[in-house]
Amino acid sequence: MKSLNLYDVEDLRYEDSEQPTIVNDNDVLIKVKATGICGSDTSRYKKLGPYIAGMTFGHEFSGVVEAVGEAVTHLNPGDKVTGCPAMPCYECDYCLKGEYSCCKSLYVIGSYEPGSFAEFVKLPSQNVLKVPDNVDYATAAMVEPSAVVAHGFYKTAIQPGMTVAIMGCGSIGLLAIQWARIFGAAHIIAIDIDDHKLDIAKKIGAHQVINSLETDLETFIETHYSNQIDVAIESSGAKVTIGQILTLPKKGGEVLLLGIPYADIEITRQHFEKILRNELSVHGSWNGLSSPFPGKEWHATLHYMQTKDINVTPIISHYLPLSEGPVTFDKLVNRKEKYDKVMFVVND
Ligand SMILES: [Zn+2]
Ligand SMILES: [Zn+2]
Repeated sequence: MKSLNLYDVEDLRYEDSEQPTIVNDNDVLIKVKATGICGSDTSRYKKLGPYIAGMTFGHEFSGVVEAVGEAVTHLNPGDKVTGCPAMPCYECDYCLKGEYSCCKSLYVIGSYEPGSFAEFVKLPSQNVLKVPDNVDYATAAMVEPSAVVAHGFYKTAIQPGMTVAIMGCGSIGLLAIQWARIFGAAHIIAIDIDDHKLDIAKKIGAHQVINSLETDLETFIETHYSNQIDVAIESSGAKVTIGQILTLPKKGGEVLLLGIPYADIEITRQHFEKILRNELSVHGSWNGLSSPFPGKEWHATLHYMQTKDINVTPIISHYLPLSEGPVTFDKLVNRKEKYDKVMFVVND
């Protein structure tokens, strides 16, 4: 089969590799129909390189069940499915408590096992979820990032009527806008430095959008939202926004950190002091897993995709064949073309 394999920093190859087969009774072989590029994939491509040279890349996907092992009862060939790419050990202290996101040896396919930038991918059956009929493949390929966002929301004390600010309108931030609505936020403020992303934010439910390059954020929030922001969500991982996000919530408010920084971050003393002086609760959030595995984040995502409360279509800018992977990653990380979410799709 064809796949995209990462050999080194900026060395991604579209080439033949061995097709996975059913080995364990619990295996499910899936024909990939849609698979998205995640921010973590671009960081690995641009900065970190692969865990194992030549590994098939990618972890956000949907597809059709091709074959199942003998012990698999809840899935059949032909089922439309999405996959949870995370592999907990099920044995460490955290796994035994059902806190799979904190598993001591958690990994995601595409790192130590072949991922989804391929014609076929294999997962254990507990990682495979059926997708409702009215949810298309590209949408179903975004169940994983949505579950990651939902995981963070479940950590907060958000209640109906609250005001939520979201900093960074990439895929994670745009999903966070929709989750804020689902969790009952009455006012949603989206912040970014890119007007195009802010347009999408508005389209999918932000009540107020702010370009923080053009507007002094602290002054604006002070003037228009003083003591109103209950929860502030950082979804960019940029080195300065992790400090800025601390200035947004009201006293006693909450900060949710979803963005992953890939460089050292900068926090001024004044920003750091906000945690203390304003008695903020700061939540870190990792992956999207809970018990029973893979967790409520996944089932809730599928429910709200079915009801269309989660609409990822405005987030996806490109539908491309897998063969365009190498050139697409190059253009994406070297900013040769503008992209929102990129989806590799198989049409047949
Ligand atoms: Zn991801
Ligand atoms: Zn574990």
